Amino acid sequence: MPTALMVGAHNEECEYNCGGLAYTLSRKGWRVVFLNLIGDYSNWPMWPDGMTDGQESINRDAMEAARRLGAEKILIDAKGHHFSAGDPSSLVRIAEVIDDLKPDLMATHWPQDTNHDHREVARAGLIAAQTTAILPGRAGYVVPEIIAHEGYLYQSQHFTPDFYVRIDDCMDALSDSFQAFQTYPAIVDEFERIKPIQSRARSAHIWPGGYAEAYCFLKFGPRLSVLPEVLGEDFRASGLARGTGLLGASN
Ligand SMILES: [Zn+2]
Repeated sequence: MPTALMVGAHNEECEYNCGGLAYTLSRKGWRVVFLNLIGDYSNWPMWPDGMTDGQESINRDAMEAARRLGAEKILIDAKGHHFSAGDPSSLVRIAEVIDDLKPDLMATHWPQDTNHDHREVARAGLIAAQTTAILPGRAGYVVPEIIAHEGYLYQSQHFTPDFYVRIDDCMDALSDSFQAFQTYPAIVDEFERIKPIQSRARSAHIWPGGYAEAYCFLKFGPRLSVLPEVLGEDFRASGLARGTGLLGASN
């Protein structure tokens, strides 16, 4: 079974940024795993004052939201703004997950994102994915294809998409997934409002009136990207990637 590892800093990141692609791949028989690194909210509580099991409640929401998209989730308990790609223990934690799963495709944050946690998670993931031989005693696995998912528009500075994924038939499932984050209802409202606007904007010049997620390639090769073949008509290259044959004859 092909496996996609989708990495996000915060507990709801994969659902918002690349939930459409996740849901699409899971329906095509892929194993989809979300990895959230910043799972300890004790220094940045997002639950109502007085709630005694806020952390557990947020964790439950996070697991359920992934399940609704056909994905599994792994939560790692780094604290907000306490995670650094320069810390070897951070690299080890990601490398262990990569080595266990041996994903065919990894999606992570855009490395130039303005948010500290997003950026550091992206950088740590890219280092760990280069080879898991950084782990003692492991032979070393190299992730063959890595893409960046897009966060909020104001955070993804200098993000110029390489390709788009049509997600029209994912919008109901995404809404259902967002609704799982009940411990912090403000994020549900925000996602319900912004995801349709952002994905409509990303779709407008390709599939007018539809919905799309935008992605950048961070690495593929020596083989070509698997995505054009897997996604078919729901994949569309843009910019430099288009017409080069780099993605196969149809793109
Ligand atoms: Zn975030």
